[in-house]
Amino acid sequence: MNDDFIRILTENGIGIAEAKKMNAYADVLVKENKKYNLTSITDYSQMAYLHFLDSVNQLENIINLDEDQALIDIGTGGGFPAVPIAILYPELKITALDATEKKVRFVRDACEMLQIHNVRAICGRAEVISKMESYQMNYDVLVSRAVASLSVILEIGYRFLKKGGKAVVYKGPGYSEELNRATKAIETLGFCLRDVVKAEVNGAEHFLLVLEREKDAPERYPRHYSKIVKQPL
Ligand code: SAH
Repeated sequence: MNDDFIRILTENGIGIAEAKKMNAYADVLVKENKKYNLTSITDYSQMAYLHFLDSVNQLENIINLDEDQALIDIGTGGGFPAVPIAILYPELKITALDATEKKVRFVRDACEMLQIHNVRAICGRAEVISKMESYQMNYDVLVSRAVASLSVILEIGYRFLKKGGKAVVYKGPGYSEELNRATKAIETLGFCLRDVVKAEVNGAEHFLLVLEREKDAPERYPRHYSKIVKQPL
């Protein structure tokens, strides 16, 4: 166990059992990182703040996490925010999606090894997988951190959400400009901005953008990824 890591998490409201499990996940992440390049942060204090606390900060004030709800993490990479959320909220059914096979394999193997049973890691592109029958409108919550601009995330991910489902998008201090640029995407894809929640992590200001899926979107979305990126909504 890393004392600093455990101290930072417990001082910030994480229970000791959960903090230990997060420490165990951090150990596997650091070990496998040499092979897979999963994270640029490998210092334990920094990981505690920027990966683990950042993943769960303020979430309990945004969504009802105790119920048997389905949550999808788009572009989970090394498992963030999916895995810390899964450790804190074992009742949630979590899908961790990434387009890169080796990252998905890492998350799957690490969760199996540490007996984190409520994460299902799948490989694929969000804009493709979200059109499949078994994934469409299947989720109560979508989360995504450090993957793409807000408009791109909404387009590749909106189909996963049930009506009334919420997208929680993790952003930095430049969030208001991103929101402005996503005005058309929000409207076209049938979303409504519900909240912007400030989440301070070790002095740095992070923001959670909370959008609710209210209406249907035209069938032609999501478009092919190259088009989404070249001509964002
Ligand atoms: N969310 C993690 C990783 C961010 S890196 C974290 O915060 O640490 C961005 C990840 O998004 C990469 O692993 C990349 O493979 C994935 N990604 C990018 N576009 C994607 C798409 N359209 N569908 C699924 N995964 C995608």
